[in-house]
Amino acid sequence: MSEIRQDVTTKEWVIISTERLKRPSDFTNPMAKAERPVYSPTCPFCPGNESMTKPAVLSYSDPKTGSWLVRVVDNLYPAVTPGGGASRKVDHGFFLSASATGNHEVIIENPAHNKPLALMTDDEVATVLRAYWERYDAMADKPDIKSIIIFKNHGLAAGTSLEHPHSQLVATTIVPRHMRIQYEVAISYYDDNGRSLYAALTNRELNSGSRIVLDTKRFVVFHPFASHRPFETWIMPTDCQASFGAASKEDFPHLAHVLRLILLKLYQGLDNPDFNLVIDSAPVGEEHTEIYQWHIRIIPRITQQAGFEIGSGIYINTALPEETAKFMRDFKVKT
Ligand SMILES: [Zn+2]
Repeated sequence: MSEIRQDVTTKEWVIISTERLKRPSDFTNPMAKAERPVYSPTCPFCPGNESMTKPAVLSYSDPKTGSWLVRVVDNLYPAVTPGGGASRKVDHGFFLSASATGNHEVIIENPAHNKPLALMTDDEVATVLRAYWERYDAMADKPDIKSIIIFKNHGLAAGTSLEHPHSQLVATTIVPRHMRIQYEVAISYYDDNGRSLYAALTNRELNSGSRIVLDTKRFVVFHPFASHRPFETWIMPTDCQASFGAASKEDFPHLAHVLRLILLKLYQGLDNPDFNLVIDSAPVGEEHTEIYQWHIRIIPRITQQAGFEIGSGIYINTALPEETAKFMRDFKVKT
């Protein structure tokens, strides 16, 4: 019999469908590790092709060779653009709209066209995290910016057609509804219990142990009780930091190791699945509240959203988080 589980952070429901349950090994995708070139002449993100992008807003260089290691540029096709202000317009007293104001940047993670985060060194991943943090900080200082979303789309099913490893940052003058709901749920829990929902959730997962993938004391990695999709993975800091902007940079080498190891387990264990990675963070200005806890969510795109999910808002997950977490916990990476 299937079970319906509630996500404690959003109150959303997820059906864990044991009728159609798949084993972790059913999700592998042996075609996805095809050889790719280290350089592509038509790729706008490859070294030598910098004129195909906008100028860099941030660039880290190798002190020995002078060549860039990470490069951040404005997106050529931005979802939001600077300068429109935050004011809302009301059309006929009914519809609400505003300029799509903000910044949309691309973080080119590495010069190599064929080196995903999972195959980088810990130092290379730490440099990417440093770029995320610096651009977050720069955006949080801008007037009217209310939310900053850092995310990564890896593979066609995750929404990208560009192979070269890259992430994106979108800073907007609105707080998205999804973020607002998470935040309101966290406030309500805090009011009722006098402590952070996210600290309670992490403790609960540690005590249970069945959905833990990795515990390094500084970061706890687990598959949530109500995972929306198979192998959904959360990386949760154990220090109270509401916003990624409040994350401690001293932690980045350690976080880089944890993130790379988890991505490598997915890369080797599921044969390089398409995935989305998102950094959930409190709204700008709420960096130091105890109410929220920034965290990384990795969502492999190995199943499709279907009509029931669109109609109901209820996800159907065909894998048990306890089984997928065990698979990931036990999986030994090959180096
Ligand atoms: Zn490239």
